[in-house]
Amino acid sequence: MADTAKAAVFVGAGKPLEIQEFPVPTLAPGAILVSMEMAAICGSDAHALHHDSTPAPMIFGHENIGTIADLGSGPRTDCMGDPLREGDRILFRASPCGRCLNCARGNFCMVPPQPGFIKSDEPPHLQGGFGQYLYLNPNPWLLKVPDDMSTERALVSVVGTHTLLNGLERMGGISLGDTVVIQGSGPMGIGGLIMAKLLGAGRCIVIGAPANRLDLATEMGADDTVDIGYYKDAESRVTKIQEMTGGKGADVVIECSGAPAATEEGLEMVRFDGKYLIVGPWTDYGPQPINPSWFPRKAIKATGVLASEPRHIIRAMRAIHNMVEAPVEKLVTHQFPLAEVNEAFESHEKLTAMIAVIRPNA
Ligand SMILES: [Zn+2]
Ligand SMILES: [Zn+2]
Repeated sequence: MADTAKAAVFVGAGKPLEIQEFPVPTLAPGAILVSMEMAAICGSDAHALHHDSTPAPMIFGHENIGTIADLGSGPRTDCMGDPLREGDRILFRASPCGRCLNCARGNFCMVPPQPGFIKSDEPPHLQGGFGQYLYLNPNPWLLKVPDDMSTERALVSVVGTHTLLNGLERMGGISLGDTVVIQGSGPMGIGGLIMAKLLGAGRCIVIGAPANRLDLATEMGADDTVDIGYYKDAESRVTKIQEMTGGKGADVVIECSGAPAATEEGLEMVRFDGKYLIVGPWTDYGPQPINPSWFPRKAIKATGVLASEPRHIIRAMRAIHNMVEAPVEKLVTHQFPLAEVNEAFESHEKLTAMIAVIRPNA
């Protein structure tokens, strides 16, 4: 193993990420070292890159897949009880603490810092996916990736799909045959599409742009798409959805666009006694005008979701491995070596990529 490793470091809002070299850390008892295969650029990374409140320096990258480089005295089995060896591909996280109030309630532990959100100025430095190695603090949560699953396909289990599975579960599920409208055709929207189909949706309509994303949505199983380049205003989109649903509205509408004004628009698309799910984002986009009378007048059940629990990653990976026929690996449209990390962010921000990934060891 090399003595040093490169990583892309956030050094301040609006500045390009810098490639820096760090010593490869020695392992504390129970910690493990991951050699990074792929780390996806998430919308929240792109946001953090431009935001003054983002702590610096930091190595981003929280949607990760890697191989075990050094197991140290860490766990010998993954969360399923399957044996782990060096060289195994894994999905990973910091484990939920099991002691906080959120853990007691079974949703979203906020105690241990997650890889990709940890400052890099102190040892062990390498704690984000955009680096050649990633140091996982003691007692990590680990899930082995099946040998016959491609790295791209496995990665999709930690990009969008797991959060959407959590959201749909919290919302009370999809009923067999439901018509589902998805606002947004990015990785979250496509994650919603994949999970809604798996859970029994009869018809999925994806609203978004540009055309390359809508084409991918169709390939991933969307029954219809609505191009916001053509249906430019909220009124025309609501009218279109009403037309497509025989004037009734959709059983379920999922907001994945992250556009502040989309919520009011989406509420107008839900049928009487339907469900509305808002996914992410972390950022506070401030007060927005919505008509609260939609909730009682249409008896709408509304739910929000931010992230997921390990159980959602397990189920997302298994389902994508065994149940999803769509070529979800094609969602990883752009792959970049570490040196081109800023070009990778550009492909994400210009929407040329669906999922752009860094391959730190390519
Ligand atoms: Zn993310
Ligand atoms: Zn906790």
